[in-house]
Formats: sequence, C-alpha cells, structure tokens
Amino acid sequence: MLFIVDFDGTISVKDTIDAMLEKFADPSWQDIEQEWLDGKITAVECMARQIDMVKADHMALENFFRGIQLDASFLPFYKHATQFAKLVIASDGLDHAIKVAMRNTGWPEIPVYSNHLNFVPQGIKITYPLRKDDCTGGNGMCKCAVARSLSLDALGPIVLIGDGKSDACISGMADIVFAKGSLIKHCERNQIKHHKFQTFADVLAIIKQWPIEKLWLNEKQSSIKLA
Ligand SMILES: [Mg+2]
Ligand SMILES: [Zn+2]
Repeated sequence: MLFIVDFDGTISVKDTIDAMLEKFADPSWQDIEQEWLDGKITAVECMARQIDMVKADHMALENFFRGIQLDASFLPFYKHATQFAKLVIASDGLDHAIKVAMRNTGWPEIPVYSNHLNFVPQGIKITYPLRKDDCTGGNGMCKCAVARSLSLDALGPIVLIGDGKSDACISGMADIVFAKGSLIKHCERNQIKHHKFQTFADVLAIIKQWPIEKLWLNEKQSSIKLA
C-alpha cells in the first residue's frame, strides 16, 4: 500500500506559497492567482510569475519556512500508517520549504517529491524536475507519475490524501481518496468515491478501522509484526 500525501493545505495549515506571497510580494500576486483559479493560465505559469514577485533575502525566507504551521495530528497518523504502508509527500509546492518546515517541527525525514526551490539574490527561482507535459493538470509536477513509479515496489492500493487542484489528476487513478477543500468538488463532479476529512485525526480514525491483516502487503512489509 502506498500513501501519496499532499503538503500545502493538507499537512500545512495554510498554503505555503500563498503565505509567502502575502508576506514578501506585491499584493497583485492575487490577480495572477485568480487567473489560475479561472483556468486562464496553468499552475506552472502562475507559480513562475508569482515566485518572481518574491522579494526577500535568504535568511528571511528560511525563517519563514521554519515557521510554517503544520497539522499536529499528522504525526500519529504517520506512525500508524507506516506500520503497514509506504508513505511519501507529493507536492506542487517547494521542496526545500517542506523539508525545513518538517525538520523544524521535529518530524522524521519523509521522502518529498516536489518542485525544486533555488535561492537567488533577493528571492527564489523554481524548477520542475518532476514535470510531465502529458499530465492533465498543467501542474509543476505530476503526482500520477510519482505514484506509478513508486507503486512498482510498494504493491497494493494507492491512497491519496489531498485538498486541491494538484491532486485532481491522481484522484482518478488512486484506489482510495481522502479529500478536503476543492478536491471534494472535483471528486463529486467526476464521481470519484472519497472520504471527506479536515485534519489527519479524521484520516487516522478511518484507517484505524481497516483490517490491517487483510491489507495487501508486500513481502518486506508482511514480515513486520503488526500490533
Ligand atoms: Mg494542497
Ligand atoms: Zn498527473
């Protein structure tokens, strides 16, 4: 079993890029955001234009990333889920921001698949090492491609936990979907079965009811003694 977990708005309380723009960019970043929400520009174009508007030095940005507020109920969820499943974070945000935020919160090192943040004088640049042009979302990275490559060695169902546009394409291929935010509407519109959730405490309550011994485990995982 493989959990693909979104970061912004799912693990983090607020969207990291939005919060960073609020703090370090001209308010006109919101006009660009609206163009993206209206479907006039892709996520990649939106991010590139917004990231260019960030005016801050390295230290100020690192401090900001350390202060990113995370859902504290993620940790107990993570401890339970990783008893029987592989778990990765897949985010159309910024890899470095995610790693700094989690390290600062004292959480274990979790694999992160995301866009790449580069510091430049007085700002940042973003590159897209996991971009797939054939992905339906026009996103900076393709969560379906991450799921496809990882599920080769984590046999069994794919579970998606997410809240937004970057989760839309993978919600169609995932076996189990936990949705909040705009992902709920997407699932309803496309008749994708899903569990609604607000925090990881809700997700944990549901997965605790799963009969672990019946879950499809790969060879390595099945040798782990399950409580
Ligand atoms: Mg999100
Ligand atoms: Zn995709």
